[in-house]
Amino acid sequence: MAMIAAHSMMSATSGYRPLTELTTSCVKALTYLSTEVCTLRHSLWRHVSSLLNVVGKAMARGHQKIQSQQKNAKKAAEKKKSQGADQKTAAKVALVHTCPVCRTQMPDPKTFKQHFESKHPKSPMPPELADVQA
Ligand SMILES: [Zn+2]
Repeated sequence: MAMIAAHSMMSATSGYRPLTELTTSCVKALTYLSTEVCTLRHSLWRHVSSLLNVVGKAMARGHQKIQSQQKNAKKAAEKKKSQGADQKTAAKVALVHTCPVCRTQMPDPKTFKQHFESKHPKSPMPPELADVQA
């Protein structure tokens, strides 16, 4: 179609054909070209839109991945935090008895009393250890 149109256009410009035919050829060629351009544009747009679709899906997947990673990181941080708090509390509870003489920390009053009796027999025993069964 393009070849025919171009050919008739070329023939027309050589001056052997009447003006109406030249115009018709021109219109035909232009119509054809615009149709071609339109088709090209459409197929290009189809390609671009399918590409955009793929990219968009990939980006959405990436975003979801990032979101889930952030979620996991947050969860892990919260878990760590609560574990840390537990450990801190446990440590505090475990080392609640501090020897007033040597500042040694002991997990229970029994150990504290044994410690006090063996290490500081000359020091006066703290009143809280008086009734502890060692
Ligand atoms: Zn001590």
